[in-house]
Amino acid sequence: MRGNALRSVADRFDARKAERTECGPRGEAISLEPRPKDYDVVIVGGGPAGLSAAAFCGKKFLRTAVFEGKCWGGILTRHCPDKRIDNYPGVPKGILAEELAALLVEQAHGAGADLIDLGVEEIAPDGTVRAKDLETAGKVLILACGSNAGEAGIPGEKEFAGRGVHYRVHDPSRFRGMRVVVVGGGDTAISHVHRLLGAAVRVTFVHRKPHLRSVEGLSAEALQSGNLEVLLGTAVEEILGAARVEGVRLRQGTEAGTRDLPADAVIVAAGRVPNTALFGNVGLGLDPEGRIATDEWQRTSVPRILAIGDVSSPLKMIITAVGQAAVAAHEAYEQVRSPYWKK
Ligand SMILES: Cc1cc2nc3c(=O)[nH]c(=O)nc-3n(C[C@H](O)[C@H](O)[C@H](O)COP(=O)(O)OP(=O)(O)OC[C@H]3O[C@@H](n4cnc5c(N)ncnc54)[C@H](O)[C@@H]3O)c2cc1C
Repeated sequence: MRGNALRSVADRFDARKAERTECGPRGEAISLEPRPKDYDVVIVGGGPAGLSAAAFCGKKFLRTAVFEGKCWGGILTRHCPDKRIDNYPGVPKGILAEELAALLVEQAHGAGADLIDLGVEEIAPDGTVRAKDLETAGKVLILACGSNAGEAGIPGEKEFAGRGVHYRVHDPSRFRGMRVVVVGGGDTAISHVHRLLGAAVRVTFVHRKPHLRSVEGLSAEALQSGNLEVLLGTAVEEILGAARVEGVRLRQGTEAGTRDLPADAVIVAAGRVPNTALFGNVGLGLDPEGRIATDEWQRTSVPRILAIGDVSSPLKMIITAVGQAAVAAHEAYEQVRSPYWKK
């Protein structure tokens, strides 16, 4: 876990572990260690979707485990923990990504879910999950693996990855004094621009279409900042440099000529790619965009496997991920417990 907010949640876990008086909803001891092959629900991914599903499942007294391989709280905590989320209902003043993550972790844990700090390496066709030395299976498997940053396919992008080309702005101060080019036109690109403006000496926002895809748009503060240049209808044709990024080659519209713009870093925000590599051998149906296809109850094409959040959703938002988690937890409950209203 990273960041102060998350650390304080971790400290509280440790304090509770030390007390060890904890009891499950039905009086059973809640294990803070994984219980192989004894779960009702196993969830892969500890982002907003997976943690919310764990909280909902725990509240329904389902024995639940969540696996997280990188960072509790998901992509937002990993990429921009200090971002203020201002579109989450019920929080009119907004909340920092890492604070929201800490609350989601606390809620999942408080509901009795086991939070397992391991990346899942393999999912067998029968739903068995393998992570390091641990092998476990639930009666229902919920996939909440999110998405990864997509590549823009610009010449030079692969070559300079990590040497001036980045896909996230984890800590804006790393770009202090730099001339940064942000490529993309959606909310993620806008979010990068806003966070870089206090640190970078110049931010050039380049989008090949004449209009932004972003719903949020650039803030008035950003537009008036004096160190933001917006180039719409402009393509980055190549990323230039020798040992690391030194500039970009730009072409405006269909103009014949190009111009070179000196730059120290390029941030690529070219959409998201669903994180489905893990399920190759499970035979899950995908939609035309490569997301896991689900029905309205988050059921996939494989019985007892559900998918939620960015790995399956066309709309990539926290509220959507959390909403789908509620639906999946209801479905998991019906599949595990077969309540009378199902018969
Ligand atoms: C820069 C940026 C800004 C954003 N701003 C906003 C915003 O202001 N408001 C908003 O509503 N949304 C925003 N979003 C979108 C939002 O972050 C996502 O929609 C949300 O995080 C989706 O949650 P998720 O749980 O489905 O996926 P994720 O958050 O991606 O979490 C998935 C988790 O699964 C884990 N995982 C993957 N594979 C494995 C494995 N094999 N084993 C174990 N764990 C695994 C990953 O490590 C990850 O932690 C933003 C996204 C970005 C990138």
